[in-house]
Amino acid sequence: MGLLSEGSPLSWAETKTHAEHVRRHGIKQFIHLYHQLKDRSNDDLKWGDEVEYMLLKLDKANKTGRLLLNAGPILTQLQELELSSPPGSVPTLWRPEYAAYMIEGTPGIPYGSTLAHCNMVESNMRLRREEVQKLLGEGEVALSLTMFPRLGCPPFTEPPAFPTPNEGAARSLFFPDEATFGGHPRFKTLTRNIRQRRGMNQDINVPVYKDSKTPSPYLDDFQALGDASREKSAKEDHVYLDCMGFGMGLSCLQMTFQACNIREARFLYDQLAPLCPIFLALSAACPILRGHLVDTDCRWNVIAGSVDDRTLGERGLEPLKEGEQRIPKSRYDSIDSYLSPSGEPFNDVPLVKNEEYYEEMIKAGIDGPLAQHIAHLFIRDPISLFSEKVSMTDVTDTDHFENIQSTNWQTMRFKPPPADSPIGWRVEFRPTEVQLTDFENAAFAVFVVLLTRVILTFNLCFVIPISKVDKNMKVAHKRDAVLKEKFFFRKDILTCDSPKEAEQVCGCSASTSSGDIHAVYDEFTIDEIINGKPDVFQGLVPLLRQFLDNLEDVDVDTSCTINQYLDLIQKRASGRLKTTAKWMREFVLNHPSYEHDSKVSEEINFDLLSTCEKITKGECFPPDLLTKHGTKTRHDIPTAI
Ligand code: ADP
Ligand code: MG
Ligand code: MG
Ligand code: MG
Ligand code: MG
Repeated sequence: MGLLSEGSPLSWAETKTHAEHVRRHGIKQFIHLYHQLKDRSNDDLKWGDEVEYMLLKLDKANKTGRLLLNAGPILTQLQELELSSPPGSVPTLWRPEYAAYMIEGTPGIPYGSTLAHCNMVESNMRLRREEVQKLLGEGEVALSLTMFPRLGCPPFTEPPAFPTPNEGAARSLFFPDEATFGGHPRFKTLTRNIRQRRGMNQDINVPVYKDSKTPSPYLDDFQALGDASREKSAKEDHVYLDCMGFGMGLSCLQMTFQACNIREARFLYDQLAPLCPIFLALSAACPILRGHLVDTDCRWNVIAGSVDDRTLGERGLEPLKEGEQRIPKSRYDSIDSYLSPSGEPFNDVPLVKNEEYYEEMIKAGIDGPLAQHIAHLFIRDPISLFSEKVSMTDVTDTDHFENIQSTNWQTMRFKPPPADSPIGWRVEFRPTEVQLTDFENAAFAVFVVLLTRVILTFNLCFVIPISKVDKNMKVAHKRDAVLKEKFFFRKDILTCDSPKEAEQVCGCSASTSSGDIHAVYDEFTIDEIINGKPDVFQGLVPLLRQFLDNLEDVDVDTSCTINQYLDLIQKRASGRLKTTAKWMREFVLNHPSYEHDSKVSEEINFDLLSTCEKITKGECFPPDLLTKHGTKTRHDIPTAI
């Protein structure tokens, strides 16, 4: 989560009355920030990862796996050192996350532009795990799991907690409020306000994985669950999820990069956006929801649905009320427009934006693509507001801007520098599903940061019509998409036919001489995108290897480590290794007690999680999931550099 303002949270009714105020001043704050910082330049590459962990208790005697609701006290201990040390002097930083069983860890200071920093990522991730593990008791473990298989199957928590469909913040049939982090009011406030703004519970329906003994049609017994009226929200043959926790209670891996200036940040934002669905499919790790195998492999749509605060009118399901407009997507979804002037021709999806604020930004000298990006974020209401934060100045504060910005959870995030800080313009890459091991997470993080260098070095251009990126997001969810599906991808990523524009955006121009935005792409498998397609495309990893081969003074240890990362990525893309999703699905399907009814029982859940624990700790390397790696990762940079 972004900013965690302190104070007393307002109810939805109160927040709503301040919505326009927050937006109005949020825009003014952005305009001020923009003018203050638009010419900031020559910032170095800095970057960092965020890993979300789930705390679990595995009870060997009873063969149960439960989510531990003690993130609060664990976090307090994890943050002790940070709070008593000068800024930037601790090796790791810890932050709360949505669930009472989640914590988020990042490196203590961002990595820099030296290649040897890539060799520090995995050891820092290991250190984070050690720091948590030291605070846990017998049978307790922190796993970087994208999903907990029996999330929403009470009792799935330790201590046991039970849902309260008729009261509290979530009002879920399955997810108790105790599972939402209570150490900061933000999370329960978001839960309540999103549901209240929507006017009803979330209704996320994910197709169930139909096996030979899965009931047909498959539908929950809502009478038995305590609310027969939910039957109209649940679809047959789907796993029904009804609150924010089902999405925000999943974990992911994010990477943030600092650009040299605002133009480079906008350019990287655009070039990475079309790669988001590719990384989603490649990192797929979410084949089980609420104790059932599902027919999708990724988490994204579930989170999108879990914070979808749109009213029926906004969703197009009933006539619009006064002041409403149709809004095609949840506030958590794939980006809707490119940010660079060169990306503009490819913005082929009608963009809903706050017209008044768009005009205000244009008048204030902000260019069209950037103004429309911000005006698009500002169609949303603030969904959590603290009484102490209602009155803010437009000059020195950015809270209202951050309020709207940090509750638009998209595949990419364009992060302006915080006021009065040494931090520059940044972009965040947000689609990746978190993997079990530090090795895999480091591999994805390092792969993405190196890709940004290759993009800037070779002036690569991945931009395709944004409507095709949306299609790719849908395709990425399909079971085994990584092997079975094709994705729209730019045919010639080296095209750069407008040198003037190229100079202007510090990258290539996406414009085409023919003017036909649909002429630039074709359909590729992920194997072809990552590993190459003879005579058509070199492949991202071969390109990266070429880039690395041309670097001088690379220490051999870093090179050895990076090679193992690229090898993993290549094998996942080609199918030589399974994605986490495929490996987990097969674990369930092959479990001796699995009854071919799509159900992941307590026993299967326990065995799966116990195996995940062994994999995480390096006690077991399933040869179909992982290479038997041994990287040269280290905590520091070799002195010879
Ligand atoms: P959020 O949750 O809003 O994305 P966090 O503070 O949790 O923000 O994470 C920010 C990430 O950005 C961390 O990985 C951190 O290491 C990294 N980071 C910190 N400072 C910089 C910087 N100047 N440039 C790029 N990345 C940075
Ligand atoms: Mg997080
Ligand atoms: Mg964070
Ligand atoms: Mg976050
Ligand atoms: Mg983040």
